Amino acid sequence: MTLRHLQGIGMTSQRTRDRMISRLIEQGITDERVLKVMQSTPRHIFVDEALASRAYEDTALPIGYNQTISQPYIVARMTELLLENKNSFNKVLEIGTGCGYQTAILANLVDEVYSVERILPLQKKAKSHTELLKLNNIRYSYSDGSWGWQDYAPYDGILVAAAPNQVPEALLQQLAVDGVMVIPVADPDDGQVLQRITRTENNFQVEQFDPVIFVPFLAGKE
Ligand code: SAH
Repeated sequence: MTLRHLQGIGMTSQRTRDRMISRLIEQGITDERVLKVMQSTPRHIFVDEALASRAYEDTALPIGYNQTISQPYIVARMTELLLENKNSFNKVLEIGTGCGYQTAILANLVDEVYSVERILPLQKKAKSHTELLKLNNIRYSYSDGSWGWQDYAPYDGILVAAAPNQVPEALLQQLAVDGVMVIPVADPDDGQVLQRITRTENNFQVEQFDPVIFVPFLAGKE
């Protein structure tokens, strides 16, 4: 891939990325750190060539294997909710690597990212994308994220990109005290809602945010 392709032209150019940032601001995203990283990260390299010209639209796009790259607003919103009230993060666990776009955004904002994916070819794609961007603070695991990733626990932050019906117990256990988890939780009667769970000394505090539409959180490896 050439530098020109990485930077993009026309519908994948810096101007197009700048317009996406203006839209995110209109939609209510305020965290400067998040806006800055999304402005400089080429989202078009994370999707297939045929979809590159649509990479900066505010929509989810197919990435193969029945999965989608989350829409820019959702990536921005989840990252903002994770970082709010915090100045620095050491370790963040991501469940649902997908094509690695959210992973790349996180890797620019925290010290270390640990990312788990249950579909191996997607994990491989994500690796190649983040290598192109020369991000070297990411570790990948091919596993069922229901189990978290015990080896590096506890995590200051956990971000989940697929919707379970209940928050997996292992993820709660692997969250550090004062750590924050952002996760879409499905209610069988009431759609999905973005939750932020903060671990306190001896409990968990739950806040509810935007209604969302995520792919389901599935058990086992594929
Ligand atoms: N942030 C990603 C979102 C991908 S969609 C992106 O922007 O590309 C959600 C991903 O979660 C899919 O790749 C899906 O395979 C994965 N997933 C679903 N359930 C999972 C589980 N139990 N463990 C790990 N990954 C899971």
